[in-house]
Amino acid sequence: MPRRQVYLDHAATTPVHPDVLQEMHKVLETHFGNPSSLHFYGRAAKQHLEVARERVARLLGAGQQEVVFTSGGTEADNLAVMGTALSYKERGRHIITSAIEHHAVLDPCQKLARNGFEVTFLPVNRDGVVDPDDVKKAIRRDTILITIMHANNEIGTIEPVPEIGKIAREHDIIFHTDAVQTAGYLPLNVEDLQVDLLSISAHKIYGPKGAGALYIREGVQLEPLIYGGGQERVCRPGTENLPGIVGLGKAAEIAAKEHLSESMKYKMLSDRLIEGIKAQIPDAKLNGHAKKRLPHNINVSFRGTKGDCLLVGLDQEGIAVSTGSACSSGSSQLSHVLEAIGLSEEEGAGTIRITVGRSTTIDDIDYILDVLAGVVGRLRAENRG
Ligand SMILES: *Cc1c(COP(=O)(O)O)cnc(C)c1O
Repeated sequence: MPRRQVYLDHAATTPVHPDVLQEMHKVLETHFGNPSSLHFYGRAAKQHLEVARERVARLLGAGQQEVVFTSGGTEADNLAVMGTALSYKERGRHIITSAIEHHAVLDPCQKLARNGFEVTFLPVNRDGVVDPDDVKKAIRRDTILITIMHANNEIGTIEPVPEIGKIAREHDIIFHTDAVQTAGYLPLNVEDLQVDLLSISAHKIYGPKGAGALYIREGVQLEPLIYGGGQERVCRPGTENLPGIVGLGKAAEIAAKEHLSESMKYKMLSDRLIEGIKAQIPDAKLNGHAKKRLPHNINVSFRGTKGDCLLVGLDQEGIAVSTGSACSSGSSQLSHVLEAIGLSEEEGAGTIRITVGRSTTIDDIDYILDVLAGVVGRLRAENRG
């Protein structure tokens, strides 16, 4: 048995906040009505649905009628990309995105590229930053959508979303951002960010899995991905996942209130970890932008090791981290993000992502610092031998 158990994979998912759990429990226990029903039970459920919508809208600085609930970040991203493409295809069939988007954006873009659309996948620099000038240069007369994430889930780099939003607006092009990783960490205001569409996910902000939302600016028309009843302004039919949505609403309320103080704590913890790693393993390479980065994300490469082996070695010590991105951790190849920032196979092979969270303590950081150099040293010796 390891001496300690430490969860340092908050970018993959977060535990449910006790206040979120309490509200979800109340809804599951008492408010089982269908929000579309006109009787008392339905009206009570509907009221909880709309409170949740108001809370999400407040987190984003949006209007209540501009928030559509989905089954999570993936569906919100899919609805943004596919919904825009299908709705505006008569105006044009060109889309601009980046090489480092989450698969929930990349894969729908690739699907569209196989079906009569043209997609420009913009490169990023070594820090993982998209250059707004590249966006400007890529714009064509038939461009209907620009989708660039707010911050990258693997390397933590924050993208210049307001600058790109300004360019999109000048050209009258719909602009989507995947803000799944920034909700709860950075201020999220749809006016400041100059976005028309924005995705969030509950389970990345201490809410439940299977709930998310897409902000859709008034006036933007999306073609739905599924068809059925008229729920969510016909944009996303189906009886609402009320417990999940209520959980998302509460998580959004907490995020709006506490993101600044939490982020300061995360930054202190990650700085301590980064300094410790640098001191013990001087040739460790920190990936992502040194300053413009998520406060809770540390992505680091150790030459002469393998990500999977580091993960297993740390797991044996009771520490949970991730290699690159949770979704691609099964393969030994570099993730599309590490490739896009120009890491060679050799440089990027031993890369792990450490993400701190609400429950992380200084003792947790000191514990990982206590065992990390040993794990790295052992793997390097094995690889040499
Ligand atoms: C987790 C994640 C998603 C997917 O969200 P789900 O709710 O798990 O479907 C999308 N984009 C980014 C950046 C993410 O980190």
